[in-house]
Amino acid sequence: MKKVYLDNASTTQLRPEVVQEMTKILSEDFGNPSSTHSFGRNAKSILELSRKTVAKCLNASAQEIIFTSCGTEANNWILRSAVKDLKVKRIITSKIEHHAVLYTVQALQNEFGIQVDYVAVKPNGEIDITDLVDLLSQEIKTLVSLMHVNNEIGTILDVDKVGRICEQHNALFHSDMVQAVGKTEIDLQALAIDFMVASAHKFHGPKGIGFAYVRKNSGLQPLFYGGEQEKGLRPGTEAVHQIAGMAKALEVSYANLETERNYILDLKNYLINQLEIEFPAFEINGSQDGFHTILNVLLPFSEDKTAMILFHLDMKGIAVSRGSACQSGSIKPSHVLAEMLSKDALKKPSLRISFSHFNSKEDVDLLIEGLKSI
Ligand code: PLP
Repeated sequence: MKKVYLDNASTTQLRPEVVQEMTKILSEDFGNPSSTHSFGRNAKSILELSRKTVAKCLNASAQEIIFTSCGTEANNWILRSAVKDLKVKRIITSKIEHHAVLYTVQALQNEFGIQVDYVAVKPNGEIDITDLVDLLSQEIKTLVSLMHVNNEIGTILDVDKVGRICEQHNALFHSDMVQAVGKTEIDLQALAIDFMVASAHKFHGPKGIGFAYVRKNSGLQPLFYGGEQEKGLRPGTEAVHQIAGMAKALEVSYANLETERNYILDLKNYLINQLEIEFPAFEINGSQDGFHTILNVLLPFSEDKTAMILFHLDMKGIAVSRGSACQSGSIKPSHVLAEMLSKDALKKPSLRISFSHFNSKEDVDLLIEGLKSI
């Protein structure tokens, strides 16, 4: 049975170049970058070259890139330090952020009593910029945290515009760019952004490694205390193989960006065409022109099919995800779709299909066959 992986917003397959790079480092370059002997200096040089590569891909300076264990850690760190150390009194975010932001903001509200405002979300899942401007008219030290590409529905935030609006209102701007990095051009010098976050396993790099972009002289303080690694902002011996794997993944992703984006967009359009033919009553959750890697659809199936649809596809070797998280057998509706869909629509099956350049039209055909057999 051919296996079909269409869940690339959850995680992605490693690129062969990444595996090769990491294998070499794991077997040969095991030194601790903080050691002063040749083994350590070798590891340090790999570390700093990786930092330069990451910075170059995003037009940042190397000193603004801080490696973390994942996107979740980087989001937690930035938001917490903004409140604790930068004395932010209010966070403006949206109800469709990833839980790594939403739950952190809620914890900070409980612990520090900060004000939290949620910017309105339009029916197509886009952020209502007019509402953001209204919220920013209040004179209070504010950080705006809005994601670049939504991981469930693929809506895109105009980070350039939001950055300028934040700047005009003296608000800090943080963006979770986990779904965007490696898949679209990001110019951090051109953007008016203070903090951003990325995660390697979303762009064909290894799991357990990510990074934060922290604008120079931000005043951010560490979440953990220990050694002097990452300029004391993120102590702990650096995972050199992971970091080098991430840098390689990013470099290859940007080298192939245009070709892979066109290829993936073609696949997405092919899927939309096939759905129009086979299930004409299907609807797209989110914007019609969302991010190329993600398509979230509401299928015209009866409600009783909702619970078994993923299981049925899985039996056929097809991996997609629902617009909802399944936890210990109970089906919790997606917090993102809950903001956009009616109660009735929410009960119907929604699927998130997410692509990478490793997919083919055959994968789409197999998914359509799988759906037809339900
Ligand atoms: N933010 C977004 C938008 C994501 O999609 C994810 C991954 O699910 C994360 C944050 C968390 O990243 P990580 O798995 O590196 O902690």
